[in-house]
Amino acid sequence: MSEKFSNKCPVCNHDGIHIRSLSQKNIISELEDYFAEKPPEKIEIIDYEIQQCKNCSLEYAFPLEAGSQSFYQWVTTRVGYYPESRWEWLAVIEQIKKRERQNSISVLDVGCGGGNFLEIAAKKLSNTRIVGLDTTPESVDQCQKRGFEVYCETIESFYNKFSSEKFNYVLSFHCLEHISQPKEFIASMLSVLKPMGSILISTPYSPMSVESDWFDILNHPPHHILRFSKKSYEELARQLGCEIEFYMPPANSAIARAANNFSLSKFGKNQTVSKLRLLQAILKDPSLFWKIFSRQLGRDRVNGTVAADMVLVEFKLSSKSSI
Ligand SMILES: [Zn+2]
Repeated sequence: MSEKFSNKCPVCNHDGIHIRSLSQKNIISELEDYFAEKPPEKIEIIDYEIQQCKNCSLEYAFPLEAGSQSFYQWVTTRVGYYPESRWEWLAVIEQIKKRERQNSISVLDVGCGGGNFLEIAAKKLSNTRIVGLDTTPESVDQCQKRGFEVYCETIESFYNKFSSEKFNYVLSFHCLEHISQPKEFIASMLSVLKPMGSILISTPYSPMSVESDWFDILNHPPHHILRFSKKSYEELARQLGCEIEFYMPPANSAIARAANNFSLSKFGKNQTVSKLRLLQAILKDPSLFWKIFSRQLGRDRVNGTVAADMVLVEFKLSSKSSI
């Protein structure tokens, strides 16, 4: 049976349990709510089931099939889809600067998109060769026009063509949750890593804090087909023989998260809600607010602090490679 039609966990191959059905009809209606716009009818979307691994708690789509090209063409052109900056971009640059100081190093960004990270990295990292990979020809073209060294390759095809190219840092921001073979993807990143090098990957940290009270279709299939937690990342690292470290931005306070979730569950995503209107709504329904707030008090912790909604994860092959 091919991986796509197996309902085993793509990280550890254990069985999953069914936790949610997500029909094509549900997906379209959720996308319409999210963007306040009906998705075009030509978009191909299939029915999915969401499974949770009994061993590592990874949540994964069944079938493990990424969104169609027509879906991505639409969603990636919605306003605000590609951020100008991300917390983890600066966190990675800061780590590299702290560790390398005078060394001449090389960095590979897998899935570099239009090159926004490459631009920031080129400005902030001196003495560094920065290379990008992307599989969308338009994005590669855009990067090359901006003067960056970028190839239209997957990490696997890049390695097959340039097997002697090795990098100190291999990065991938918000890609892993979109692909069906996470272990193979990171194994390919390891194959282009210099000895003592590091892989740094960012994804949402699932479930995100809003998800206890509001359904986020963009953190579900067809967009995200994998949903990682601390436990599923630890299993992924164990399977690959890697050490792992987690980095996160500070989470918002429980009260701020609860207020945001209350607003989303009462008013949806596309209404501007003033503080006064929100307060009035909370005073009218204090028991709902208390329920939401209590759930936030029980939020998962990582490195001893409350989990943020995204995580930057470092994979290293050798215990001697620590800074
Ligand atoms: Zn698993």
